[in-house]
Amino acid sequence: MKLEGKVAIVTGGASGIGRAAALRLAADGAAVMVTDIDDAGGAETRRMIEAAGGKAAYRHQDVVEEGRWKEIVGDTLAAFGRLDILVNNAGIGSGQLVTEMSLEAWNRQIAINLTGVFLGCKHAIPAMRAGARGGSIVNISSVAGLEGSAGLAGYCATKGGVRLFTKALAKECAAARDGIRVNSVHPGIIDTPIWTKIDEGGLSSASEALGQPGANMLSADMVAAAGTPMGHAGTAEDIAAGIAFLASDDSKYMTGSEVVIDGGWSA
Ligand code: NAD
Repeated sequence: MKLEGKVAIVTGGASGIGRAAALRLAADGAAVMVTDIDDAGGAETRRMIEAAGGKAAYRHQDVVEEGRWKEIVGDTLAAFGRLDILVNNAGIGSGQLVTEMSLEAWNRQIAINLTGVFLGCKHAIPAMRAGARGGSIVNISSVAGLEGSAGLAGYCATKGGVRLFTKALAKECAAARDGIRVNSVHPGIIDTPIWTKIDEGGLSSASEALGQPGANMLSADMVAAAGTPMGHAGTAEDIAAGIAFLASDDSKYMTGSEVVIDGGWSA
């Protein structure tokens, strides 16, 4: 119960890593505000937390809308009295060659994966400062934020952006002596529903252009088996464990760090 008495917001909490993180933070004692655009999935995460004896609420939230961020932070304070932890997890994957990528597809990735993280930090930090007990922000990047991947340039740009945004903000908070730590998590190939949602046409044309015609790039297992030293995909719970560590006081001397959980992918 390392997070007992703490309050967290987890975006993208209806599925995959976000759901696993919400369940883990709640199991460790935090009250969790789960948000997502998938209301059925979000309500199910809330139900799962409550069934396990934890505290949770769910709100609909598109992370690109600034006004909604203000409401979510306000609702969290109203429901649970404080804010200690923000997990900026909501994200989309899109695989397209740069020459074939529409400006709309580019802007959409940037808006959700990068601007959503900025907005979350912008509106959570004043609430954390008001509590005067510090806080922990965990931004979900990717191994695609550490190294480039052909066919994933847009996604890499968003995740590389999250990585350095995190480090810069960590220094702003440290300079303010506000006790707020800001770190990024970099998952490798993790078996979640995101692999079924990636723009399939884009990825298959990318794999053909890269000389791997017919390569099934949409299976987390296949990608992991091909590229991960440990030979298999990770689980959402593997990532949730790293998030829970960064959320807890066990990591109290860590800020601006990147926690890589990738089965050796980037080694
Ligand atoms: P997922 O698709 O299972 O879950 C993502 C969640 O985000 C979904 O519930 C979705 O509804 C929500 N979401 C999407 N757009 C949103 C928006 N505009 N506003 C609010 N919610 C929105 O995917 P996942 O694998 O659990 O991914 C979670 C995070 O982990 C993402 O940021 C992703 O880029 C990152 N990541 C995943 C992997 C992997 O292999 N699965 C690897 C590296 C990084």
